[in-house]
Amino acid sequence: MKVIEHLNKSDKTLFSFELLPPLRGHNIGGIYRTIDPLLEFNPSFINITYHQEEVVYKKHENGLLEKRTVRKRPGTVAISAAIKYKYPMVDVVPHLICGGFSKEDTEYALIDFHFLGINNILALRGDAPKATRVFVAEKEGHSYATGLVKQIIDMNKGRYLDEEMENTTPTDFCVGVAGYPEKHIESPNITSDMTYLKEKIDAGAEYIITQMFYDNEKYFTFVKNCREAGITVPIVPGLKPIVTARDLRIIPQVFNIDIPEDLVREVNKCKNNDEVFRVGIEWSIMQSKGLIRYGVPVLHYFTIGISENIRQIASAVF
Ligand code: FAD
Repeated sequence: MKVIEHLNKSDKTLFSFELLPPLRGHNIGGIYRTIDPLLEFNPSFINITYHQEEVVYKKHENGLLEKRTVRKRPGTVAISAAIKYKYPMVDVVPHLICGGFSKEDTEYALIDFHFLGINNILALRGDAPKATRVFVAEKEGHSYATGLVKQIIDMNKGRYLDEEMENTTPTDFCVGVAGYPEKHIESPNITSDMTYLKEKIDAGAEYIITQMFYDNEKYFTFVKNCREAGITVPIVPGLKPIVTARDLRIIPQVFNIDIPEDLVREVNKCKNNDEVFRVGIEWSIMQSKGLIRYGVPVLHYFTIGISENIRQIASAVF
């Protein structure tokens, strides 16, 4: 089933979550161990992130540095297929990014998903490399997620890159995109970010999943701004419980997100990260309950490979 069908059909708040592929060299068993404890809460869909190649430097004994390009978390296509066939009651939503993909590569990936019977995609640009903080599109690739959405919608109309192909089979993807209640980090202002978010919806995206936030008011204001900008699609809140005290520093730095003072105070009172883990769960339960009262279609949790906190939150909330 498509994500938009879940969103339109349900009269109560649904549960979904996001998984990261295991680090290269590790087993898919970790994915199943994350999913299994969460099945009792009837997830409607599970998202699988996509990870671009990164540049790393390996230091040799002679002191010279060797530049290498590695993909630390490969396997999105295979994991999506494995989940689809192991858990037929749950829909799978692979992420697809612009970074590292030419339009031709994108078409091949979409053909793979289509043949696997996967008809949901979250279309993203992908992050800029940490070292440069500047996103550079692949030669013949998309610079922004809007281009990727357009390519997928074209394929849904049977329009592949080779315009001379005849009698093509249209794909049938439901496309979601990302939205940023506190603005995307590279965006000069909220208005500009909203303009480009609207472009993604006008290109054919059917719903938005938000970046994490820790103050529900940010989400409520974002929804209001979207509606005023003419964006009418469902807006799914993304939630990531705080896990360690370090998150207080990293999350604002990497994602441009404010941590409310009350949450900072609670984390600072903790004697160790076990206590921080507990605070993260309690804060997320409070956020989730507030969002359900507001009437959100789905609560979408970012697991980063840990399901115990999400399990405790879901059992308090659903
Ligand atoms: P875009 O919508 O392309 O926007 C990027 C920036 O460019 C924004 O500042 C926007 O305002 C601006 N912009 C857009 N169009 C234009 C234009 N025409 N002209 C000028 N400026 C423009 N990253 C991964 O690598 N893999 C994942 O699996 C992944 N999953 C994610 C899931 C969610 C729910 C979210 C919220 C993010 C995820 N990300 C993932 C991170 C995402 O790739 C980054 O935030 C990335 O920097 C932006 O992606 P986007 O799709 O929002 O980009």
